Amino acid sequence: MIAVYIILALIGLLAAVMAVNTVRKKPIATAMQSPQPFDLDKDKLAENLSGMIKFKTVTSSTTQGCDKDAFLGLHAYIERTYPLLHKTLEKEVVNTYSLLYKWAGSGSDKKPFLMMAHMDVVPVDERTADKWTYGAFSGAVADGYVWGRGALDMKGQLVAVLESVEYLIGQGYAPKRDIYIAIGHDEESMGTLGAQKIVDRLTEKDVRLDFVIDEGGVMMDGKLMNMDAMVAAVGICEKGYADIRLIAESAGGHASRPPKQTAVGALAKAIVALEKHHMKPTLNKPLEYMLFAVGGYMKFPLNVIASNLFLTKPLLLKGLGAGSTGAAMVRTTAAPTMLKGASASNTLAERAEAVVNFRISPDDTVDDLMAHIKNTVGDAIKLEIIQAYEPSGVSDTNSEAYKIIKGTIHAMFPEYVVSPYLMVAATDSRRYASVTDGIYRFQPFRSMADDLDTIHAANERMHIDSLREGVEFFARLVKKADE
Ligand SMILES: [Zn+2]
Repeated sequence: MIAVYIILALIGLLAAVMAVNTVRKKPIATAMQSPQPFDLDKDKLAENLSGMIKFKTVTSSTTQGCDKDAFLGLHAYIERTYPLLHKTLEKEVVNTYSLLYKWAGSGSDKKPFLMMAHMDVVPVDERTADKWTYGAFSGAVADGYVWGRGALDMKGQLVAVLESVEYLIGQGYAPKRDIYIAIGHDEESMGTLGAQKIVDRLTEKDVRLDFVIDEGGVMMDGKLMNMDAMVAAVGICEKGYADIRLIAESAGGHASRPPKQTAVGALAKAIVALEKHHMKPTLNKPLEYMLFAVGGYMKFPLNVIASNLFLTKPLLLKGLGAGSTGAAMVRTTAAPTMLKGASASNTLAERAEAVVNFRISPDDTVDDLMAHIKNTVGDAIKLEIIQAYEPSGVSDTNSEAYKIIKGTIHAMFPEYVVSPYLMVAATDSRRYASVTDGIYRFQPFRSMADDLDTIHAANERMHIDSLREGVEFFARLVKKADE
């Protein structure tokens, strides 16, 4: 009987500890700050974005592949549209198509920071061309939106950054610290011709940056994560990447006398094994920081789980690992994307090939991944790395830079909870790791939450009110960074 009492007492104690932890982490509502009016003409902003969308700056992995007129046309358009910026900032064309601007500060002991965007866009899929309400490169301004390829990814942010600087110069603002603007031209291919060359240029000039801000994190309704809050997610890390070719070989011949194991059959087994056996899920740092920031806002019992990780970690990893969005956050993912067998239906393939796309968790490495694949598919399958890179480092959430970004978000969008998060896709910003420790990914457009599915798809669009807020966000960021 005493044993039962002891167990009950222990359970009671544990429940009390968990409750205290949960309550303690419940964040305090952010104090409302009355925003100062920014005198921005949103119709003009819409017109400027519309003009940018009309340039068909479709991405290319080679310099020769770029549509010269489109890219250089866009350069000239930027110059025409932002005269004050061009009078005040130093402009440098990098590798024919990318742009790097420097806004020299009047003097500060703080290192410079850099605002990023890319001017290239993904092509429009011909098969979905008729799904667009307005032409993909029309830049139509209608129904409160600017429509077209690149409106969100990411000419909208490009406009917001440039407009903010034009606006501040017009207001007589002069920054204390140096500020750079970098506009790549091949983010949607690889970033080797644009962002990488810009980073090389900064390295040559011996520029060390306090931080960069790029696309990646979005503003969203926390309902998606069972939360009673709006969330502004700031990407502090991005997953690694690997395209791996799997090759199975066997004797060819006529399909009428197949051996027990064909190359295609062996390859299929390997693919199934990779879909079934995954690398270990872990509570990586960005996820831990995110749960710390938003856990208190989650609905019961998630708030208790998120606030008591010392006890609930296995449960949490299991739960998250079960869904595709959660799995992408807690472990390395495997997605078979391409397949090739024989060239005729009545011929045995001598060689069957598949490509599997992996996104590597911040807690794994390319070597770990290769060992896992070998273990899973066995020695009979040959492996070739087509391309691979490691996960990025994790940017500090206690840094001055993070506080600047967080403070700007709070001042503009007081109803939003700012949360660090792990980017599961790739951006140009990872290339900046050699010139800065602070890489943050955030897009300050509230309407994106509703239009995320239009990125790289039909009907990409930017809400004009959101665009205006985006301009104000970067103007505030520039000022806050000087405080
Ligand atoms: Zn992008």
